[in-house]
Amino acid sequence: MNCLFCKIIDGTIPSKPVYSDQQCYAFADIHPQAPVHILVVPRKHIASLAETTSVDRPLLGDLLAATAEIARQQGLLNGYRVVINTGEDGGQTVNHLHLHLLGKRSLSWPPG
Ligand code: AMP
Ligand code: ZN
Repeated sequence: MNCLFCKIIDGTIPSKPVYSDQQCYAFADIHPQAPVHILVVPRKHIASLAETTSVDRPLLGDLLAATAEIARQQGLLNGYRVVINTGEDGGQTVNHLHLHLLGKRSLSWPPG
């Protein structure tokens, strides 16, 4: 499958690893929007949050729990933001489900 994040997971395309477990892989975003900007992805290819089904409920929990663990490891004691851009209106550009973990600066709201 011609998927950028599947290639990052299998090592065909290099990345800066941050965290890895049986279900999830996390790596540094190539265009960071904050001092900490990490992408957390499932090893299983799922195109977007909108494509998940009831089978994926445990995996979605794993992804969130991994993200919280990474935030602790990164020392984001003052808070952080987790974003899942979904589909065209959501601004998703890579069609493999991913959570953005952003931290180490004050983030404005609402987003653009
Ligand atoms: P989204 O716009 O939510 O689909 O997010 C895709 C993210 O992937 C963007 O923040 C990009 O900067 C990031 N990205 C694209 N290519 C790479 C890459 N080769 N390594 C790391 N991050 C990437
Ligand atoms: Zn993929």
